[in-house]
Amino acid sequence: MINYPEFKENLSVVRARVARACKVSGRPESTVSLLPVTKNHPVEAIDYAVRSGLKAVGENRVQEASDKRGSCTDKVRWELIGHLQSNKAQDAVATFDRIQSVDSLKLLRRLDRFASEQGKKLAILLQCNTGKDPNKYGFAEEELPSVFEAALKMPNLQVDGLMTIAPLDNDPQVAGAAFNSLRELRDTLSERFAVPLPELSMGMTGDLELAIAAGSTQIRVGTALYGERSY
Ligand SMILES: *Cc1c(COP(=O)(O)O)cnc(C)c1O
Repeated sequence: MINYPEFKENLSVVRARVARACKVSGRPESTVSLLPVTKNHPVEAIDYAVRSGLKAVGENRVQEASDKRGSCTDKVRWELIGHLQSNKAQDAVATFDRIQSVDSLKLLRRLDRFASEQGKKLAILLQCNTGKDPNKYGFAEEELPSVFEAALKMPNLQVDGLMTIAPLDNDPQVAGAAFNSLRELRDTLSERFAVPLPELSMGMTGDLELAIAAGSTQIRVGTALYGERSY
């Protein structure tokens, strides 16, 4: 695990990348938020983020996040970014402030039910596999309108927007196309159902510039902030 000064250095490098990408696209920097991804790192990673003013962290496993949340005194928002099995939906609702990786109708229904039982309105994003990557979770683009319509009727869920993970490909156009598709999908849904869908969670260490160019409002960054993860 890196130390705090190293983290601060990494953070300023990431912020400079974001600033440059925003400048190129003519977007104000304030329209892109940074979600530090602390998965597979000790709780100090969360502490570093909070000390430097970041307000949320991204984790990909329910148990790991729940353990960390229990031993962490920092006030921070917890976001789930990894695939969630339906049998862990109840714990996920208890642990996270927002779930970005909603990828099935069954999971959607369960989250609504557990949110109701736990007396909370749960913020979610719908994960969409816009890159049609067979190795990635997420709804197919064609499924999204009906899924979104169903989600809108669930009283205990608040759909903030959409999330995607671009396919790994040496050709940057592949990620760029996946990001553009997500933005177009958001625009279409938002217009058709006349609801705002402000959040577009897309872009990671390797492709954040492409995501910002395509309209990302939140980049999820692990490696560039904390170094390589050891699994
Ligand atoms: C791990 C992870 C990230 C962060 O990836 P880096 O390449 O380390 O920045 C972002 N999003 C999701 C869904 C992840 O699982």
